[in-house]
Amino acid sequence: PDAAPTDYGPLLERIAADVAPLLGSGTPAEYIPALAAVDPRQFGMAVADLDGNVFGVGDWQVPFSAQSITKVFALALALAGGGDSLWERVGREPSGNPFNSLVQLEYENGIPRNPFINAGALVVTDRLQTLTGDASSEVLEFLRQESQNPDIAFDAEVAASEQEHGDRNAAVAHFMASYGNIDNPVPALLEHYFWQCSIEMSCADLARAGRFLARHGLRADGSRLLTRSEAKQVNAVMMTCGTYDAAGEFAYRVGLPGKSGVGGGIVAVVPGRCTLAVWSPGLDSRGNSVAGVAALDRFTTLTGLSVF
Ligand code: GLN
Repeated sequence: PDAAPTDYGPLLERIAADVAPLLGSGTPAEYIPALAAVDPRQFGMAVADLDGNVFGVGDWQVPFSAQSITKVFALALALAGGGDSLWERVGREPSGNPFNSLVQLEYENGIPRNPFINAGALVVTDRLQTLTGDASSEVLEFLRQESQNPDIAFDAEVAASEQEHGDRNAAVAHFMASYGNIDNPVPALLEHYFWQCSIEMSCADLARAGRFLARHGLRADGSRLLTRSEAKQVNAVMMTCGTYDAAGEFAYRVGLPGKSGVGGGIVAVVPGRCTLAVWSPGLDSRGNSVAGVAALDRFTTLTGLSVF
C-alpha cells in the first residue's frame, strides 16, 4: 500500500549537495549548436507524488530541451490510440548500440530493436502521425495537459538545428522506409520527430507529466490513458531500454524505469508512489546525464524506493 505523503524537500537538498562535485563533469550534447551552448553546471530535480504535491531543488523550474524523453510520451499515445499492433513494427529488446545507430536495421529487416532508440521512435512517431495527423502537436498538448502548464512549447531554434544536422535520422528513416516500415512521407515524419525532440520543459513539468506512469495509466484528470497492463509494459521497456546502451548500468545503479534525453534530462518512475525528474546537461559517453544518473542513484539508495 502507498504510504502517507512524504516531504521530499530535505531529501532533495541532500541529494543536490551530494552530486554538487559532479556538476560540470561530462559534456553537453554537441551534435547541434543550440544544445552545445548550454551552461553545463546547472542541476535541478523534482519529485511529483500522486497526491499532486511537487517538490524540487536547484534549477527544477528552468526549462530544458526534453529531446529523447519525449519518446516515452509518444509511445504511450501511440499505444493508447493504436494498440498492440505497433509491436509488429518495433521490438522490445535493449539495443546495446548507440541511440542513433543504423547497423541493426539491415539484418533485422528494418524493424528497430525498441521504441526508445531513434529508429524505434521514428516508427512510433510515424504511427502517431497516421493516427492523429499531427504527431508533434499531439505530444506537446499531452505534456501541457498532464503538467498543467500551458507554456510548455517547441523550441524553434532547436528544431531547425535538428533539421539542419539531421542526416543520420534521415538515413535511419529512409532505410526503414525501404523495408516498408514507414507509412508517411519521410520528410514530414522527420519534421514531426524534430519538433517533438525540441520540446522545452522543466523538471517540475516533467515530473508532473510522467505521473500517469506511476498511476498505472491514469491521467491527471483521472481518465485512463493506458490500461494497467500497458502502463506496466511501458515502464518495463523504460527499464530495459530507456537509457540506450547504458540501460543495464542504469538498472543496476537506480533500479527504476527511466528515460533520458541528450538535453541532460531523465524521467524515472516509482510505480504507485511518485515520478522523478532530474536535469543536468553534462553527459557521459552514452548520452546520459552524469549528475542526473548520480542523483537518481542517491534517491533510490537513500530511500530504498526502487522496483526491487
Ligand atoms: N534529437 C536527438 C536525435 O535525434 C535525440 C536523441 C536523444 O535525446 N538521445 O539525435
